[in-house]
Amino acid sequence: MRTITKIIVHHTATRPNVERETIDKAHRLRGFTEIGYHWLLHCPDGVWIVTEGRKESVIGAHARGHNLRSIGIAVAGNYQETELPLEARKLLVEQLARICKRHILPADRASIRYHRELSGASTLCPGKHIIKQFEQIVNDVGALL
Ligand SMILES: [Zn+2]
Repeated sequence: MRTITKIIVHHTATRPNVERETIDKAHRLRGFTEIGYHWLLHCPDGVWIVTEGRKESVIGAHARGHNLRSIGIAVAGNYQETELPLEARKLLVEQLARICKRHILPADRASIRYHRELSGASTLCPGKHIIKQFEQIVNDVGALL
């Protein structure tokens, strides 16, 4: 297994009900071998679920210059434009906690990052409505560990 040092949170900037297949196709069109994220949180049938993207053992394609030792997790939706639904937030916290446990990462801001804050990133991702509550999300992950 790769050594994982951080988890990077994204949004998809699509509708929340986007299917894994749609993102997989879009990423392949961009020249990736498959979907670039390791985990997709989405709401295809009205309920928020976690769907596996790329295997965690495989280097992702989600944050240029930061993929080698990271896990990429994307919340479906556009959180520059809309508030993060509570069910999505709950699932995000739970999934971040599972990834922290698996890779023995502390639930802190060195380990749990969002795309826009990374060096070299030029993006709004994961959107202001996730970013404004990011510290609290990370605190909530800590409470689950
Ligand atoms: Zn992103």
